[in-house]
Amino acid sequence: MATYTWVMIFCCFFSITQTRRMYNNYQVIRAKPLTQRHVIQLHALEYNEKSCHQLDFWTSARAVRKTVDIMVPPTAKEYVALTLDMIGVPYHVLIDDVNEVIQTQRVSHSSKVAARGSNEDFFMFYHTIDEIKLFQDSLLSTYGNILSELEIGTSYEKQPMKVLKISTGGASDKKKIWFEGGIHAREWISPATVMYITNKFLEKYTSGSEDEVNFLTKYDIYILFVTNPDGYRWTWDNDRLWRKTRSPNEGSECVGTDPNRNWPFEWGGEGASEEPCSDTYRGSSATSEPEIESVVNFLKKLENLEMFIDFHSYSQLMLYPWGYASDLAPISNEEEVKKLGDATITAIEAVSGREYECGNTVELLYAASGASEDYAYSIGTRFSYVIELPDKGKYGFVLPEEEIIPTGEETYAGVMAAFRYLIEYT
Ligand SMILES: [Zn+2]
Repeated sequence: MATYTWVMIFCCFFSITQTRRMYNNYQVIRAKPLTQRHVIQLHALEYNEKSCHQLDFWTSARAVRKTVDIMVPPTAKEYVALTLDMIGVPYHVLIDDVNEVIQTQRVSHSSKVAARGSNEDFFMFYHTIDEIKLFQDSLLSTYGNILSELEIGTSYEKQPMKVLKISTGGASDKKKIWFEGGIHAREWISPATVMYITNKFLEKYTSGSEDEVNFLTKYDIYILFVTNPDGYRWTWDNDRLWRKTRSPNEGSECVGTDPNRNWPFEWGGEGASEEPCSDTYRGSSATSEPEIESVVNFLKKLENLEMFIDFHSYSQLMLYPWGYASDLAPISNEEEVKKLGDATITAIEAVSGREYECGNTVELLYAASGASEDYAYSIGTRFSYVIELPDKGKYGFVLPEEEIIPTGEETYAGVMAAFRYLIEYT
């Protein structure tokens, strides 16, 4: 385990005084469409009514009997209840007061931090962007023999974007892996999990573990912990449930673009909004967001990219292309892509019993154009995925930090199963 310099890391934890967005009496309700007509009606509710009633669809309607989680402000409770009753969609309250969940977790985090000893496990906590940068530095100083850092650009607010590279050197035409976390700011389990699996891989490699050593003889691994650092910072200081980047939009008071609708492949089609106030706003153009432009420029130069995984939450899904429209033929190598995905989710379930589904993005979720896994596949990545980490909605985006280690453990098993598949079959 790398030695983490805890005492210094937490100095400014309680000094943040900006106004935080509150979610008092916001509920998350879970609706269950029973017919295809219900699915269409819930879609209409999401796209027509969400801005005037400020509904936040934590998950979208995707199929009959697949539940939909909607965060409802107190002012819209009656409207939503009446609407769902009228169309005949059953629902129940999943989270009664979102603010209470956020506050409880914040207080628990603060008291654990205050009581923490210097050797406490880093992964018992969620971390600010500055703490994540220090963690990255500590990994570099501990594992400098196989770990290096590449600055690929800066965010809108000029935060550096630094990619970690795990490599034992050797031929420059080695196949390559890309992992990215934190593209959606509020999905805190994503960067936490990507850091967990990075740390564990380095520990196991260093201790001589066969799978890890074997994998690095053939592959280099590139990792970006937080793809949307400005948004992530905003979730700590101002709004725990912020999703987008933090760039302003000309002619609109609404800030931010959905970075996962901003990739330069089939940009601006289905499932991406042209409305700057929407949480799925596609941006003013493809790669309008400097964070996405930086990653794209880097990936374009990376030859032999074999596997790409973009970590999100929540829903426990492993999704592959195409996702940009709802009526597309399967990708040409769907069979092997599905097999690797199934090997991954089977390994996850073997550790924790947590069930995932693996399949095509549109079939399991919905069409979303300008998204990461389509872009990676379009530039020739053989295996390209989005993983939606836990849970299935009990906490949704506000997964307690007690879940970091279990999620990290099971995801690590999944990733190693994927690596073994690559070694064995490709
Ligand atoms: Zn996401």
